[in-house]
Amino acid sequence: MRNALSVDVEDWFQVGAFETVIDRADWEDLPRRVEQNVGRVLDLFDAAAVKATFFTLGWVAARHPGLIRRIAEAGHEIASHGWDHRRVFTLDEAGFRADLQQARSAIEDAAGVAVTGYRAPSFSIDARTPWAHPVLAEQGFAYSSSVAPLRHDHYGWPEAPRFAWRPVPGSALIELPVTTVDVGRRRLAAGGGGFFRVLPYAFSRWAVTRVNVAEGRPAIFYFHPWDMDPGQPRVTRAPLRSILRHYTNLAAMEPKLRKLLRDFQWGRTDQVVASERRRLEQIPAGPVPVAALPATPVTS
Ligand SMILES: [Zn+2]
Repeated sequence: MRNALSVDVEDWFQVGAFETVIDRADWEDLPRRVEQNVGRVLDLFDAAAVKATFFTLGWVAARHPGLIRRIAEAGHEIASHGWDHRRVFTLDEAGFRADLQQARSAIEDAAGVAVTGYRAPSFSIDARTPWAHPVLAEQGFAYSSSVAPLRHDHYGWPEAPRFAWRPVPGSALIELPVTTVDVGRRRLAAGGGGFFRVLPYAFSRWAVTRVNVAEGRPAIFYFHPWDMDPGQPRVTRAPLRSILRHYTNLAAMEPKLRKLLRDFQWGRTDQVVASERRRLEQIPAGPVPVAALPATPVTS
């Protein structure tokens, strides 16, 4: 079972948790660490012979074109994480379209390859943004990995399917939601990010195994370059909860990732989209009502 591994390429000051205390106008003056952190990620993937997807901010691509080219030349997929990390539900339809276009043009210019995948900042496509998937389809994206089908304090669309689905009738666009597991009546995040960093590795190993073996589906997993950077500047004015979440176990991230890379098979998101697309050919298109779509494995 090949699982999808991805990196959301953004710097330490661009995360949603600090949005209320760091103004976008100040980004230009802050020390950037994305080059060195992505360099470490590339070394890690190289040592494990893993190819992955790098969902990149247009803002970063415009300032570090050499880095984006280096990622693409190493055989990884380059995809879009939007222009400057504005969450989709804070935009309107026209603003979202403009954000997608600005980001894609900067990323494609830097990478020299076509971008076909998109991940919304902070999984911000949800019930409030019914126009988002149609705009992605109209803009020619092949897939989105932008929905977290659970309840969380910052994001979530608990009614959405847990596995790949087609959100726009008549379009081939696929939504590949981040991995979750159901435990009793609770749905838990199991697709990486802060949860992977904070919780013991054994939880992630159990969750990915369960999705692969018991449910027969690929896991969709992600982390950030700053997740493995204990030397990043400390933001002290943010809410305590955000600070705890952002800075816990940074130094433990790299050894944990080595285990994850060793214990499972990983590949680019576009490869997993291709295998999920074949499976979806057997079930009807979405999107309404999403609750009616199969959220359980479809046997092929
Ligand atoms: Zn992000």
